[in-house]
Amino acid sequence: MKRLSLKIKLTLLYSSFIIILAGVVFALLLSLSSREILSSVRINLKQQVQSGTEYLSVTDWTLNVDEQFYSVADNVYLGIYWTNGSLMYGRIPYGFTEEIPLNCNGEVYKIKGEYEEWYLCDIAYELEEYGTVYVRGITSVTKAESGFRSTVRAAMLILPIFAILTAILTYHFVGRLLCPVEQSLQRERQFTSDVSHELRTPVSVILAQCEECLADIKLPEEEKRKWELIQRKADEMSEMISYLLLLSRADQGRIQLQKELVNLSELTEMVAEEQQTIANGKKIRIEMSIDPEVYLHVDESFYIHMLVNLISNAVFYGNINGKVKISLRKMKHGVSGAVEDDGIGIPEEYLPRIWDRFFRVDHARSSSELEMHSGLGLPMVKWIAEVHGGSVNVRSTLGKGSCFTFFLPEME
Ligand code: ADP
Repeated sequence: MKRLSLKIKLTLLYSSFIIILAGVVFALLLSLSSREILSSVRINLKQQVQSGTEYLSVTDWTLNVDEQFYSVADNVYLGIYWTNGSLMYGRIPYGFTEEIPLNCNGEVYKIKGEYEEWYLCDIAYELEEYGTVYVRGITSVTKAESGFRSTVRAAMLILPIFAILTAILTYHFVGRLLCPVEQSLQRERQFTSDVSHELRTPVSVILAQCEECLADIKLPEEEKRKWELIQRKADEMSEMISYLLLLSRADQGRIQLQKELVNLSELTEMVAEEQQTIANGKKIRIEMSIDPEVYLHVDESFYIHMLVNLISNAVFYGNINGKVKISLRKMKHGVSGAVEDDGIGIPEEYLPRIWDRFFRVDHARSSSELEMHSGLGLPMVKWIAEVHGGSVNVRSTLGKGSCFTFFLPEME
């Protein structure tokens, strides 16, 4: 989910919302209409049983049943029954084999047959000169429901088509909606890239001038310190500009990795040893636990960049006399590494934001005369890990230290 584009994420979100909503409305309508259908079947059955008695008459103490009584209207089968529930005259539907004792309260009730369910309604009708006749109406619940079942089947077919159409339409709609956002992002990237590019020349001129001035051996000590400070700051600017240029090119997909099979064990050891010289300034000991002969296809200069960033952060935010542990492990499908320090740590609420460009937990704690701290280091680390198909993570406890881990998969 994390790697899906915003367009896909929004499409998934909106279309699943619409599909769920449509499903719920449909299920509601279906349940209401099924109840409606069954209740009208019950009302109809009761009415037909009551009106069936109009077709009964008595002449000379004999019961006459009109032809109309036997006609089956709206699937209701009428019959005259003996008190034990067996048929005297009339018709019963095919499949109704049960002998159900009469229940002459005039209400509709449901019984479960072997294959179908039935609604029954019985009444006792008093005929002069004949006595009581028992009329029963029978109708099939299963048949009444069958029409409604075919609606459900049709819905089962229509719903996936509806889901696909919704997803396609939402995808187009979201695309149109995001178009201006994408355009302004593109403009912003182009702007950053252009500005960084344009700044490179003046900064190199400043640096060249600094070098020229510092080369003057007659320069008084006071002046020399001033020029050195200018040089350091111009160096920082130059580095920041290269980072910005790199990141904006990365955003535009304009960076080609130069991958080759690299001995990461040796390279990691080399970078760590180089960083030890800087760590000495804070009396920090860099410890290594590196698997031998770990080979992987990576862009060597980007790998070095990533490691330098992580180790220099660990040293910078580490404690005086502390230690930094570097590990590298050969895994089944790639390589995992970690850079751990016992320094100031990062407050938990800031952990998700440290990967954002220009984000610094606290400007005061990351300001230094000697080193550049722009808040662009970790975004670079993240980009490098991801462009290699991998990932980078952090665990940190305020006041105890941080551990940055990365995983780079085996990809040619
Ligand atoms: P910066 O150049 O300011 O160090 P990064 O992008 O490298 O920028 O790091 C972003 C922020 O994350 C830093 O400002 C710092 O507060 C925090 N951070 C990074 N690494 C560590 C670490 N090892 N220990 C404590 N805080 C760290």
